[in-house]
Amino acid sequence: MNSPAMVPPPRRVSGAGTSKPKKSSVMSAELAFNRNVDVDYGVADEIVPGVRRIVANNPGPYTFLGTNTYLVGTEEIAIIDPGPEDATHLEAIERSTRGQRVSHILITHSHRDHCDGALPLQRRLGGEIVAYGPAGSERGAFAPGLGDGLGDGFVDAAFRPDATASDGDTVKARGFALDVMHMPGHAPDHLCFALMGERTVFTGDHVMGWNTTVIAPPEGSMADFLGSLERLAQRHDKVFLPGHGGRIETPRRVVRAYMTHRIWREQTILACVDEGVNTIPHIVARLYGGLGAELKVAAALSVLAHLEHMSARGLVTAEGATEGLSAFYTRAASAAGSGSGAASGRASS
Ligand SMILES: [Zn+2]
Repeated sequence: MNSPAMVPPPRRVSGAGTSKPKKSSVMSAELAFNRNVDVDYGVADEIVPGVRRIVANNPGPYTFLGTNTYLVGTEEIAIIDPGPEDATHLEAIERSTRGQRVSHILITHSHRDHCDGALPLQRRLGGEIVAYGPAGSERGAFAPGLGDGLGDGFVDAAFRPDATASDGDTVKARGFALDVMHMPGHAPDHLCFALMGERTVFTGDHVMGWNTTVIAPPEGSMADFLGSLERLAQRHDKVFLPGHGGRIETPRRVVRAYMTHRIWREQTILACVDEGVNTIPHIVARLYGGLGAELKVAAALSVLAHLEHMSARGLVTAEGATEGLSAFYTRAASAAGSGSGAASGRASS
């Protein structure tokens, strides 16, 4: 994870410049993001033909300039991610859809910055709320001790859609059709939506334009995340419209960069373990020294996600308290000295 931009909340804002690469003795694969995004909160901007974007005014270390709400269609409208429960934002959506029928309110995943506005928006505009399913049904939405912004304050475990959608389903109304893709990893219920005939995908928080995606167990799963990236890498899309940040015009390159970044991060963690840096707090201090305390929580969970994934593949062994962040990690005997071979393992294992 790069150091996210801390963004002030004036009405018109730009993101900070691209992040500085960090040095690593293993290999360097930090991602360069375009954070020069202009935002007019409350204004519906046409972002590709037939798709408008309104950015919610909830900037922060996990949300960049705010949550993107997309209005899809020109006759009937699907709203993708209503965003937080923020009256000004909901009013802006209402204003921008006046005279149009809202057929669907689609939720990429049940994190509060994406779904909290769903019910209040439905009360204003109607529309069927569609999502993968109730949250918290899989790996468990409640992760203790994650602080603000992650854990149960982050996941709406009580969220219930009107209708569930799963991989391969199509959501359609007059003027548009969206293919549903289940893309777990950041969240177990994460969906992406592909606009049929347009090579445009709404990627939610699976792939973002401003930062790497936080994978925070138990909500997040690195194996699932890499599998979902692999699926996107097989496609031939032209534009990604993420849940935070500007549109992504080089989707395949960004997906490959995300994957390379994870391989690199795994290698840096393995190098720590080999050098006797065996606990997550020490690994975080080594790899993310410059991060503030709040973001170090996310960094620790990201390291945990990698170690979980490596444990599952028999590369590392956890000793002691294997729950949470306090285990002691060593190279698994069979994997010791296997070096870069570790990096080729992916979600298939
Ligand atoms: Zn989000």
